[in-house]
Amino acid sequence: MWVRVIRPDAVLVWNDPEVRRRLSWYRSVMLNETPAKFMIVRAVRAPSNIRDLGEEELWRIHDELHQEAEELFKQMYGSGVDEERLKPASPSYLDVKIELARKIMRRCRFCEWRCEVDRVSGQRGVCGLGDEAYVASFFHHHGEEAPLIGTEGQGGSGTIFFVSCNFHCVFCQNWDISHPRGGLEGAGVRVDAKRLALIAKNLRLGGAANINYVGGDPTPNTWIIIESLKYLDVNAPILWNSNMYLSMESMKLLLDLVDIWLPDFKYWNNECAVRLSNVRGKLGYREAVTRNHLLAAKHGDMIIRHLVLPNHLECDTKPILKWIAENIGDRVLVNIMEQYRPEYLVLRSPDKYPDVARRPSWGEMQEAYHYAEELGIVFRPVS
Ligand code: SF4
Repeated sequence: MWVRVIRPDAVLVWNDPEVRRRLSWYRSVMLNETPAKFMIVRAVRAPSNIRDLGEEELWRIHDELHQEAEELFKQMYGSGVDEERLKPASPSYLDVKIELARKIMRRCRFCEWRCEVDRVSGQRGVCGLGDEAYVASFFHHHGEEAPLIGTEGQGGSGTIFFVSCNFHCVFCQNWDISHPRGGLEGAGVRVDAKRLALIAKNLRLGGAANINYVGGDPTPNTWIIIESLKYLDVNAPILWNSNMYLSMESMKLLLDLVDIWLPDFKYWNNECAVRLSNVRGKLGYREAVTRNHLLAAKHGDMIIRHLVLPNHLECDTKPILKWIAENIGDRVLVNIMEQYRPEYLVLRSPDKYPDVARRPSWGEMQEAYHYAEELGIVFRPVS
């Protein structure tokens, strides 16, 4: 029998009991043994008048239905994908989320910049997006962490790259889609919710282990991603690959839609976040990102990425690893990444950013790995 396996570690990684335990929900959805959360959320009935309600009342209904959905997640774990039981309700809990996302667009609070601009009327905040979304590319990504590549018969992570970002990292490796010189329109193809769902469906049917929303950053596109799930008619784990500077509102919308979180935890020191990523929103980087990691780890599976920056071991890497170990270390996997290289503005003006104008040294990486080991962090299977 012909079996499509591109990376042997994508199969072997599941022999590790800690990987299986920590990513049990995700794995079960990936193998179609459990329905993805969005399918369950879509089957939960909502009151018929949700389109007439204000934001406050919608949140009240949302929070009630969240409890119902959480119960169903437990009941449906490992139960297979029963189409009759998962028949979409009309309106559904997902429709409540769609209504809320539309209201947030009117006074944008998808991330902690909280620009409060009316994107539907064409106003633009820090991310530069109105009520449009652009996809730069989508493909089966074979370079992600081993559990995200899929096991026998699956082919990579179904990655969808959105144009635009709410951060402005001076070392960005994707600056051509995060902050394209020619404007956002020229960097991708405009999509609506149905087209986005079709892209996701084709990726999954083509063997993708998951649907991986990334960019730039997916956060400014939260509204259209949620809406697209209304039209996605295949089971697929939803993966949120983000800088994690989401607002509390976005977190609440996504907590019971995302099957596996893939957040970047870049900085501990807020001054580093301001200087190197221009994070100057209403809430500090560390306050927002630690809050969101706690929430996501409580509600879902998670692989945290930490990119080791040269000369930032003491101010960022070590305190981040310590915080993870003390707060969520028993539940998550951590990818300690050595891939940093000077790019974008650092490459153009290394004198302005001397601390990050080189790759991390072998010694710095070893120090990070040893420290993580001392703390008992599980990082080897995904680093
Ligand atoms: S997504 Fe964030 S950066 Fe973009 S307009 Fe909304 S609050 Fe501002």
